[in-house]
Amino acid sequence: MAKPGPKSKPKPPAPSARCEMPKFRIVVDVGHTPDSYGALSARNDPEFGFNFRLGTLITAKLRDQGFAATRLLVTDGKARPSLFKRVSAANDGRADLLLSIHHDSVPDKLLETWEFDGAMSYFSDRFSGYSLFVSERNSHFATSLLLARMIGRQLKEQGLHYASQYTLPVMGRYRRQLLDKDLGVYRYDGLVVLSRTRSAAVLLEAGSIINRDEEMAMNSLERQEMIAGAVAAAMGEFCVRR
Ligand SMILES: [Zn+2]
Repeated sequence: MAKPGPKSKPKPPAPSARCEMPKFRIVVDVGHTPDSYGALSARNDPEFGFNFRLGTLITAKLRDQGFAATRLLVTDGKARPSLFKRVSAANDGRADLLLSIHHDSVPDKLLETWEFDGAMSYFSDRFSGYSLFVSERNSHFATSLLLARMIGRQLKEQGLHYASQYTLPVMGRYRRQLLDKDLGVYRYDGLVVLSRTRSAAVLLEAGSIINRDEEMAMNSLERQEMIAGAVAAAMGEFCVRR
């Protein structure tokens, strides 16, 4: 992208064109809403709460690191309208990056039952790991992919593995193309928050909460700090490179 000459009148940068940490506007989007809470964990805790806790920590880490313009986006109401509220919030706030935070489950047909806290509950221990999604329909696809890879690399360096099941037939309509076989970045073109946002956009499934062991890990501050630190390190690296 062309840079203005030294004497030219300063123009506002195109979104995602460059990165000055204090001005770079990251919107940390908490996936789902209190009413439409997403997946239910193996111990019957709603995904929204996991997303909110991790999103809050990621926002704090990014601000501590110098990304002062980072904001946490919490949306209410029903599922579908909430997606467009997120896109509007990011676009109206002239975001440079939308980072949507989620926790993973499995298709219903893979669920098994167990008793937790005296109640019949659902789980699947078959899959685990984080995953990252980007949309080719996003106008900053290349930047989104670069960012997703940087986050994936940091997560991998922490010893975490990615969820490899999205390429399998068993995933049915959730099946995705794997764009980075080393770092766990998938293509998810149709997702509203990724495709309609005018900034770069990445969705992070931080881990599986339907997997009984991984749910416990995702509940631990240690794992939350590890993931938030990895995201902050990736963003710092991104800004240095720009
Ligand atoms: Zn979700």
